[in-house]
Formats: sequence, C-alpha cells, structure tokens
Amino acid sequence: MLLLGLVLSSALGLLGYWRRSLSASGVLGAILVGTTIFAAGGWAWGALLVVFFLSSSALSHFQEAAKQALAEKFSKGSRRDLAQALANGGAGALAALGQALWPHPLWWLAFTGIFATVNADTWATELGVLSRLPPRLILTGRPVEAGTSGGVTPAGALAAFGGAGLIGLVAAAFDLAAGGSAALAAGLALAAALSGVCGSLCDSLLGASAQGIYYCDVCQKETERFPRHGCGAPTRLLRGWRWLDNDGVNFLSSIVGGIVAAAIALVVMSPWI
Ligand SMILES: [Zn+2]
Repeated sequence: MLLLGLVLSSALGLLGYWRRSLSASGVLGAILVGTTIFAAGGWAWGALLVVFFLSSSALSHFQEAAKQALAEKFSKGSRRDLAQALANGGAGALAALGQALWPHPLWWLAFTGIFATVNADTWATELGVLSRLPPRLILTGRPVEAGTSGGVTPAGALAAFGGAGLIGLVAAAFDLAAGGSAALAAGLALAAALSGVCGSLCDSLLGASAQGIYYCDVCQKETERFPRHGCGAPTRLLRGWRWLDNDGVNFLSSIVGGIVAAAIALVVMSPWI
C-alpha cells in the first residue's frame, strides 16, 4: 500500500503540476500527504483525497480569466505550494496516521470532516469569488472586495455545502460498499456535510478576525501579502495576528471540521459505531 500510495500520489501531483494547479513544492506536498493517506488509510481514505484534488483543481480553472484580476490580492498565485498542500491535507494525513497507530472508527469520521471542510473551503473560494453580489465580512456585514478573507456570499455558502456534501456522499458510498448499513451511510454523509459547513464557517470567522491582513499605503488596498505588496511597496499589519496566515487558518479550520464530525458521531451515532 505504501508503494501504491507513492505511485498514485506522484501521478496526482504531476497531473496537478501539468494542469498548473500545483507548484514544484506543491507536488512534493501532494506526494507527502497522498502517500501517508493511501498507505495509512487505504482506498476509501485515498478516494476522498482524490475527489478533493480533482474537484478543486477543476474549479480553480473554471472562469479563470475572471479570477485573474483578483490574483494580486492573495498572498500566493493560483498554483498551490508546499504550505498550501500541508494546510489542506496535513490534518487528514495526521488522522490517517492516527488510524494506522491506534485504529478506531472515529478517525474515519474525523478524516471525513477534515476533507469535507477543505473541499467546502476550496469550492466556496473558487465559486464564491465569481459572485455578482459583493461579499460581506462575516462578523460585521461590511461589504468588501471579492477575494477578501472572511468575506462571504450566498453563492459561496451554497458552494461550501456542495463541496462538503460531495465528500460525504463518496465516504458514504465506500461505507456501503464495505457492507455498512444504509442508515449509517446516510448519517455519515449528513455528518460530513454539516461538519464541512461548520469548518468552513470557522475558516471565514478566523479569516475575518485572527488572520493577519495587511495594507498597502501606495495602492491603498488591503492584501494578504507580507512583507511586500505586488507593487513592491512594503505592507503594514491592518488587523489580526502576524503569524496566522491563510494556510494556518485553513489547517485550523480543517481540524475544527474533523472534531465536529467526530463529535456528531459520538453524540448522535454512537449506538451504531
Ligand atoms: Zn501596492
């Protein structure tokens, strides 16, 4: 399984590189995360990673021209690097390692919640950014520019639900194929959709409050770039914590999604697992 995981995740990583959704360091990240998840978790776990990878890569190319104008606002380009790969897949790889070392059904539920969250976030970002309505900051309701961390739109919220729900459905299909009951599979799909939406909400809340947001005095624009803006001018901290960037927010909210899924399972589904 280790060798198979290495081969499959290398193939995915190179596909991502070729499709221009991963940078060279992002390929390394995809191989690290993918090999760990395939080797420690197996097919069902690997399948959720593949669904996340393929659907987010397809969406990032959707309406690419419209997104190009927003690119300078983000701290990084559209190619995902090592830190982004670990921010999206790191918590899932840790859950897979947990399952390999101390096997327990809760790891699978947490893993589903983690990937439901990262998929929800990616879908919300890639589709919400195209919304015709201006996003509003989740905490204050203040309208902000498209692409601002912590900004939410109805389209983005719907996309988050879809992204989380798809992960839930795939996870449920694997549970059914392994001989699980239909009720349990439906419960898993619902728990994943709910936890992904919760994790994604947490991502927006952190993005609007704790994440470090900077300001370029030359362009008079908010940005996530530090220490310098795209124009070359230095940026200054506007709000949030300097050490908490978008990758940190993604990682933390994916853990929240995993905990919510495990908590739902413990409280609601415990008689069956
Ligand atoms: Zn500037």
